[in-house]
Amino acid sequence: MRIDLHTHSSASDGTDSPADLVREAKAAGLDVVALTDHDATSGWAEAEQAADEVGITLVPGLEISTKFRHRGVHLLAYLPDPTHPSLVTMLDRILAGRTERTPAIVSALQEHGIEITEDDVRREAGGSVAAGRPHVADALVRLGVVRDRTHAFDELLNPGRPGYRNRYAAELEDMIPLVNEAGGVAVIAHPWGRHGGTVLDEEAFAMLKEIGLAGIEVDHQDHSAELGVRLRGIAAELDLVVTGSSDHHGLGKVDHDLGVNTTDPEQYERLVSLAAPRP
Ligand code: AMP
Ligand code: ZN
Ligand code: FE
Ligand code: FE
Repeated sequence: MRIDLHTHSSASDGTDSPADLVREAKAAGLDVVALTDHDATSGWAEAEQAADEVGITLVPGLEISTKFRHRGVHLLAYLPDPTHPSLVTMLDRILAGRTERTPAIVSALQEHGIEITEDDVRREAGGSVAAGRPHVADALVRLGVVRDRTHAFDELLNPGRPGYRNRYAAELEDMIPLVNEAGGVAVIAHPWGRHGGTVLDEEAFAMLKEIGLAGIEVDHQDHSAELGVRLRGIAAELDLVVTGSSDHHGLGKVDHDLGVNTTDPEQYERLVSLAAPRP
């Protein structure tokens, strides 16, 4: 059984529609795929329908923008009730922060001498409710300013570069209990990748487990083999679920092909058993 628990569609900053993503997952030989768009559940319905059609198990999820000790941490939430009022309120606030950031980034790039407009970005974002830097990157590519998303981030959009602007993120220590309250399962995404740095050590994971953390995404392209071994050790020590995934973004991110990392079936079963039964 091949299981990939972290992918993005055009509902956030992936380049495939939710249905296409699910079809590609089937074609890639996966048995289970989780759709985990940034801060949004808007792709679920389309993905679920496509999953029924092609015969693959879809795990509805999302990747929530949080912060821990002032550093960004991505939190995967599987199978929460997407109508849970407090969760909806929190996600709306994060999405508003994304929407408000776009004009600030565009202004910063204009001040840097680049002729880009909010409309250019809006066009790239298409039907996504989660406006993100990747959409700005795509606009910059289309305008011929940079070659690809990677160069857009490296030269203009990463922290310290002229187009970088911060945005609102929820506190991780509020979000983990909230995901549980909504019947979902909380897993830290790529904890030692680019975004999280090393802000999460064993002591932090132990504390987060106390407030409801269920697992750690260990097998991820942002982690070296050595980091993977150390993270796996921490997960074993704390009895946390271990997951693996591609963090696929369609054409938007190189070396993240569907199924490039996978989750062990036993770990998957354990994760699903921790979710509240769905109506
Ligand atoms: P944002 O959500 O707007 O803060 O932008 C972060 C998103 O950009 C994440 O989904 C990352 O996967 C993506 N990202 C970060 N760096 C790169 C890069 N060099 N190339 C492509 N995507 C990137
Ligand atoms: Zn993304
Ligand atoms: Fe992430
Ligand atoms: Fe992701």
